[in-house]
Amino acid sequence: MGRGSLFDGLNRAQREAVEATEGPVLILAGAGTGKTRTVTYRMARLLQKGVDPANILAVTFTNKAANEMRERVGRLVRKKVAKALTVCTFHSLCVRILRQHIGWLGYKTNFTIAVGGDRDGLLRQLIVKHGATKEKVSPNDVMTEVSRRKNAGLPLGEIEDDLIRTIAMSYQKELRARNALDFDDLLLLGEKVVREHRDVRDACRDQWRYVTVDEFQDTNGLQMNLMQELVGAPHNICVVGDDDQSIYGWRGAQVENILSFEKFFPNPHVVTLEDNYRSTEAILSVANKVIACNPTRHEKLLNPTIMGGEKVVLMAMPGDDEEANWVADTIKGQVGPGQRTLEDFAVLFRTNTQIRRMELAMREQKIPYRLVGAQSFYDRREVRDVLAFLQVGANPESDVALLRILNAPPRGIGSGTATLLLEQSREAGTSVWAAMWDERFLAQLSGKAEGSVRNFTEQITRFSEALREGPKEAGDLLQRFLKEIDYMEWMMRSCKTSEETDQRREAVGELVTALSDSTTKGHSLQEYLDSAALDKEPEDDLDKKSGVTLITLHAAKGLEYLVVFLVGLEEGILPHQRSMEEGTKDEERRLFYVGITRAKEMLYLSYCGTRKKWGQLERCEPSCFIPEMDFDWVEEQDFEVMMNEEASGDELKDAFGGLRALLE
Ligand code: ATP
Ligand code: MG
Repeated sequence: MGRGSLFDGLNRAQREAVEATEGPVLILAGAGTGKTRTVTYRMARLLQKGVDPANILAVTFTNKAANEMRERVGRLVRKKVAKALTVCTFHSLCVRILRQHIGWLGYKTNFTIAVGGDRDGLLRQLIVKHGATKEKVSPNDVMTEVSRRKNAGLPLGEIEDDLIRTIAMSYQKELRARNALDFDDLLLLGEKVVREHRDVRDACRDQWRYVTVDEFQDTNGLQMNLMQELVGAPHNICVVGDDDQSIYGWRGAQVENILSFEKFFPNPHVVTLEDNYRSTEAILSVANKVIACNPTRHEKLLNPTIMGGEKVVLMAMPGDDEEANWVADTIKGQVGPGQRTLEDFAVLFRTNTQIRRMELAMREQKIPYRLVGAQSFYDRREVRDVLAFLQVGANPESDVALLRILNAPPRGIGSGTATLLLEQSREAGTSVWAAMWDERFLAQLSGKAEGSVRNFTEQITRFSEALREGPKEAGDLLQRFLKEIDYMEWMMRSCKTSEETDQRREAVGELVTALSDSTTKGHSLQEYLDSAALDKEPEDDLDKKSGVTLITLHAAKGLEYLVVFLVGLEEGILPHQRSMEEGTKDEERRLFYVGITRAKEMLYLSYCGTRKKWGQLERCEPSCFIPEMDFDWVEEQDFEVMMNEEASGDELKDAFGGLRALLE
């Protein structure tokens, strides 16, 4: 790798940042100015200077961004070197730290990560236990409060609502008893173990001597503390971000982390980037005028390097069905040999309720697509079951997972037995698995129930041993195990349609494939389970599938597409209803700005006159952000007028055709 080649793809300011390898560096710059590109090159530069790849850490916000960064560095340096870098999300960074050091906090290093359905199941149990009805408190109510508190570093004991506080505290106690951590605990305990234990901190500092954080505007207080602990003098930390793209305020992100960076790391080398290489002048002009409407912001220059470009299309749609079909039709009309490919297109939306319609339109038109930022696969019941089997196989002491599959499929371990079992494990202070072997517990059961329990523990032991002996065959072993317990038959029996049957079979099939892929790559079963657990949380993505990208605005941060559709520009959607109630309209405007600036060549915006909700037609108002755009670069179109014109054109042709036929 010649030095010249590395710097060829960079402008002067970017080079300056790449050369500043020592001490704190801050790059605060607008969308598409090459921030991510710059930090990627900067890592390559560090390697070129002889830094050991194992000493380099890069933190991003999504798995997708981490993968992409790893790939981009991989293009600049040798594959093997790129592989030795640590490029990960904040949460997976914490998993890494905790798998090694959580012992200091009294947990066992084989802790389980409780997310999604398992976590909600536990919450539901506790809600019932504490006498709250479904109407009064939902798992979501508790989780929102718990998550907000944990991220803000506030104790659960100070939650105001009595009922929610009680449930939240026993939720935490239960997690602890099961040696389980939820998503927020990862960050909380990761930060804690590094902060409280000098040995841990020093070990981390010794390993990661050069640290980079992308999208720094979205870090919260906890993440900032973690960084301060991890990065000691001489503070080799490089952060990049854009305050105008700060969109996680609702999750506790503090934009001050980037705006007052020098308070945390003194005398940073500050680099500003002002040239946008991504979007046309048309798209950038629209974006700039919109974001200028935010009252408090750190003003930045953002100049286009690609002048002119096609005007941004603003389409008035009669309803959401038409909107979805129009998107699908337009994409179809532009894809073909010598034209664009499906991967050039992204459809951006604000809320999950907008997904289903769009998915349907894509399916009807047979357009392959991938869904990013919205949960689907890992939320499926069968997927959660099978992951639980695997988790138990990897570690039978994983109580949450064990309880999930105790009687699935039914094997004579009914709720009576389960209650006795839980009591036993609580009294003895052991895992549920250990309690299952306890003779005192077994003695309380009927002969039949006892037989069922012994049978089950034997089956699990065999499965577990097989997995330990043949970690590479995990996929096959899993399939054999599912067959042995007749899992698929049982699952299929509850399906109502053949479509459902197919989907479930496919989902389990995908899981087996994913597992096999992971173990052939040399990952351990626990590593696979960790990644599956992390995938379940927001921003999961299906990178392998090709096609049009359907993506939430939040997940689209940092990404770019040739053609972007931003749909549903209506009051209540963007800006979101909640933001109007909570007075966070500026954050919605930033979200709109993020959406606009994803587009490279062409941007389509649309809003509907009506939308179906709960089967009823409702009227919609165009978003208040629309008039804020630079209309010199916008072309307004009305779908109905357009269709009428086309139709009358057809009629005219028909009329002439008829006339001609008569004459002939
Ligand atoms: P965002 O704020 O959306 O995260 P960013 O500042 O991280 O954007 P990048 O994604 O790094 O920007 O770059 C935007 C696009 O511009 C990419 O396609 C990148 O390859 C290109 N680009 C960046 N710098 C240059 C350059 N010096 N010459 C040519 N292209 C560039
Ligand atoms: Mg970026």
